[in-house]
Amino acid sequence: MSDCLFCKIIAKKVPAKIIYDDEAITAFEDVNPQAPVHTLIVPKKHLSTTLDITEEDNELIGRLIRVANRVAMEKGIAERGFRLVMNTNPEAGQSVYHIHLHLLGGRPMHWPPG
Ligand code: AMP
Repeated sequence: MSDCLFCKIIAKKVPAKIIYDDEAITAFEDVNPQAPVHTLIVPKKHLSTTLDITEEDNELIGRLIRVANRVAMEKGIAERGFRLVMNTNPEAGQSVYHIHLHLLGGRPMHWPPG
């Protein structure tokens, strides 16, 4: 999608600190980190919100979580623990309308979330 920030990052038209890239998924560091580890795992397919995920995306969503696990292991936070978050729509705080998994870790996480 031409006016989508994350599509532009995926296409390398906007710079980002990309730490993982394959044919379906790109992962890059969040520009405004909320924890010592804050990586965004993003499907290359443009889906605006989680509500747009259909059965044909089942494999893609599984891959997204497996890439998050891999990044968590590489960053040394897998055993301590980490949080995966996908915000949907305004009340959840979604600000970029291209689905992305937040990988947060490196500090204790609180519950319930704010
Ligand atoms: P959300 O609010 O769940 O839609 O998450 C969007 C995330 O994208 C926020 O955590 C932002 O800090 C992050 N973000 C926005 N612009 C950029 C960018 N150019 N590069 C990396 N992360 C970004």
